[in-house]
Amino acid sequence: MITQTEFYINGAWVAPATPHDHPVINPATEEVCATISLGGQADTDAAVAAAKAAFPSWAATDPGKRAEHVKAILAQYHARAEEMAQAISLEMGAPIDLARNSQAPCLPWHTDGFLAAFEGFEWVRPLGDHAPNDRIAMEPIGVVGLITPWNWPMNQVTLKVIPALLAGCTIVLKPSEEAPLSSMLFAEFVHDAGVPAGVFNLVNGDGLGVGTQLSAHEDVEMISFTGSTRAGKAISKTAAETLKRVTLELGGKGANVIFADADPKAVKRGVLHCMQNTGQSCNAPTRMMVEQSYYDEAVALACEVAENVTVGPTDQEGRHIGPVVNKTQWDKIQGLIETGIAEGARLVTGGTGLPEGVNRGYYVRPTVFADVTPGMTIEREEIFGPVLSIMPFEDEAHAIAMANDTLYGLTNYVQTQDGGRRNRMALALKSGMVEMNGEGRGQGSPFGGVKQSGRAREGGAWGIEEFLEAKAISGWAAE
Ligand code: NAD
Repeated sequence: MITQTEFYINGAWVAPATPHDHPVINPATEEVCATISLGGQADTDAAVAAAKAAFPSWAATDPGKRAEHVKAILAQYHARAEEMAQAISLEMGAPIDLARNSQAPCLPWHTDGFLAAFEGFEWVRPLGDHAPNDRIAMEPIGVVGLITPWNWPMNQVTLKVIPALLAGCTIVLKPSEEAPLSSMLFAEFVHDAGVPAGVFNLVNGDGLGVGTQLSAHEDVEMISFTGSTRAGKAISKTAAETLKRVTLELGGKGANVIFADADPKAVKRGVLHCMQNTGQSCNAPTRMMVEQSYYDEAVALACEVAENVTVGPTDQEGRHIGPVVNKTQWDKIQGLIETGIAEGARLVTGGTGLPEGVNRGYYVRPTVFADVTPGMTIEREEIFGPVLSIMPFEDEAHAIAMANDTLYGLTNYVQTQDGGRRNRMALALKSGMVEMNGEGRGQGSPFGGVKQSGRAREGGAWGIEEFLEAKAISGWAAE
């Protein structure tokens, strides 16, 4: 069992001001796998004070030198990638191959993207030929509070910490109390990379404690948050008192619009994407919309694919899916499956209860519903489990109307061989991202949503600029 009750503040691991042990549960076994501490106001204040003191010199550090520190963090990762995969697998239940091949590698993938965007970054920019003495200076916003969830822990930590460091901000990170181990390992990388004391700090805690304290803190200039829409709203309200910048990456209910002329692998790809990470992805394509003429065939195909999705232990290699993160999520998913049945959706495969042969761990049966109609609870709510809803549509206009009829707007998906239709759909869908024909977005592409998915843009140049303020200057002397 791991005991890691200290916080990383001002370049050292320090005990909490007041002990407050918190168990981390391994979702595959339901057993305690680690003990951490939940911080309180004194710990938050100490971390913010360290970040505030470190800010002037970090902001003044040559950007090239800041990039060197980031490269040193990357080197730490490459030396210890297996440890990172193991930590993620243990804390949030990703099967080890998923942790090794998808979860942990988010760190180098995004960091490389940020470093590429940072090369030649213009800190002082001309406004335009019409105003030759104007300049726009890009300046780091100050001390930033970063609050992250458990589902893709290193993805979200990287998408926040790396651009904040490059921008010249100093940091207090509060990772999810469900999945703190990967972040504590990340703090070791930062320390061993020689990042100056106070630039990066980590305090564990829960939302009502450290999360709220950071959001309210008058010395924190910005909160960058990823998590539930519920918590995003709470943070916005708390942060309003100090008028700090708040950027939010929240939930999603992605539509996957499959036309009858889609490539033959489109349905399979959609089901597997929905089930990946046991359905615990904000950008999961959970509403599969299929053109009427292809609908019955697609439902049968989706059923076959889902029945071949196996559920298995996290420490076992292979392409199976693992448990969901905790009992609360498990109960919530069971309730939503029951509601789907009660509201008249057709259960095609899966359902409530533990998968066959499983008697412990928060495992869920891969589940597919067909004949889901707009307004059903499973069509509206983010389930965050391996549960797919399939619904038919008549034509392009109908598909667009159904896809956009949601409070969310993170990623939508389109499958058709008709290029003109693809482009029309991409522009008509209301979401921060549209992915078509299974083609992933490129490195450095901005990740974020619209509506209640939040409006942050993370990754690449956009992700760095989120941590900067634009200062407008006139009367700039010719150089
Ligand atoms: P959560 O909102 O419960 O917790 C996320 C983080 O916020 C945790 O660190 C938690 O301690 C903290 N928190 C909770 N309440 C808070 C409050 N009132 N004030 C300050 N901090 C608070 O979410 P979760 O269950 O960890 O993650 C799942 C959610 O995250 C899903 O809704 C998912 O869609 C969303 N998500 C979104 C994205 C995205 O980029 N849009 C990415 C991943 C996950």
